[in-house]
Amino acid sequence: MDITNIHKEAPPLNTQTTGTRDAPLPRVRVRIKNTEIGGDGFVVIAGPCAIESGEQIRQAAELVSSNGGHLLRGGAFKARTSPYTFQGLGLDGVKLMREAADLYSMPMITEVLSERDVDAMEPYVDAFQVGSRNMDNTALLKQLGQLDKPVLLKRGFAATIQEWLLAAEYVIVGGNNQVVLCERGIRTFSNETRFTLDLAGALYARQQTNLPVIIDPSHATGNPQLIPSLAAATLAAGLDGLMVEVHPNPEVALSDAEQALSPELFTEMMSQLQRLSVATGRPITR
Ligand code: PEP
Ligand code: MN
Repeated sequence: MDITNIHKEAPPLNTQTTGTRDAPLPRVRVRIKNTEIGGDGFVVIAGPCAIESGEQIRQAAELVSSNGGHLLRGGAFKARTSPYTFQGLGLDGVKLMREAADLYSMPMITEVLSERDVDAMEPYVDAFQVGSRNMDNTALLKQLGQLDKPVLLKRGFAATIQEWLLAAEYVIVGGNNQVVLCERGIRTFSNETRFTLDLAGALYARQQTNLPVIIDPSHATGNPQLIPSLAAATLAAGLDGLMVEVHPNPEVALSDAEQALSPELFTEMMSQLQRLSVATGRPITR
C-alpha cells in the first residue's frame, strides 16, 4: 500500500466554514441572546469552574455582571480527571445557573458531556460548551449540529488545528453554523503551566475559517497570576473574546480552585481590559 499519499495534503475543510480564496464567506457572528461573538466587540465569558450551590452561582453572576462581563459560565456536568472528585450538580446545577443568569439578565453557557443530556439541558441553556476531552465526540457534535443553539467548541488538548476545525464542521454540516472556537491550551513538554497556550494556533484558526475564536487562559495556565496578562494579549491580538474562571471564594472551590481568579483579581483584569479596549477600539460594553 502506498502510504505516502496521506501526507500529501491536509484534509479539505468544508467551504461552508472557509469559503474559497476567490469568494471568502463573511465572518460568522454568533448570537447568544443579547451578546454577539465575532462582531466588533470583545466578549468576556466568566464564572466558576463548577456550579456548587444557588448562593455560589448567584454571587458569581453578580461579580461577572457588575464588572461588565457578558456571559455566565459554570459546569454542571464535570469531566474531572479523577472519578473520586466532585462531578457537578447535573441538571439541578443547570437550573440554579439559569436562575442566577436571569437575575442579572445575562446569557449562560454550560458544558454538555454526553448526547444523552442534550434534550434535558436545552430548555435551560443559551449555548452549549463542548469540552476539550469531548472535542472528537462525533455523536455529540452531530447532535448539536441539529439544534438552533450556539456551540462553543474547545480544542482538544492533544488536537491539531486541522482536527479542531474538522470537529467544528461536524456541527456546521448538520446545519448549525453558530460555532465559537475556544483555544484552552495544549499538552507539551513544558509543565510549568498546566497546559501551553497556543495563541498563534488560535490566530491561525481564525485566519483559516470565518468562525469567531476565543481564548481560555484559565485552563491553559492553571495560574491566576498569569491570566490578566494573557487576557490583555488576547484582546490586543484581535481575537473575539475570553473565557475565564472566577470564584467568589477560591479557597473553598470544589474544582480547579488553584486556577480560579479571586473577585479582586477579576475586577483588576476587567478594568485593565477596559483601558485596553479604548486603545484598541474594541468595545467591551454589555
Ligand atoms: C471547563 O471549561 O470547565 C473545562 C472543563 O474546560 P476544558 O474542557 O477546556 O478542560
Ligand atoms: Mn475548570
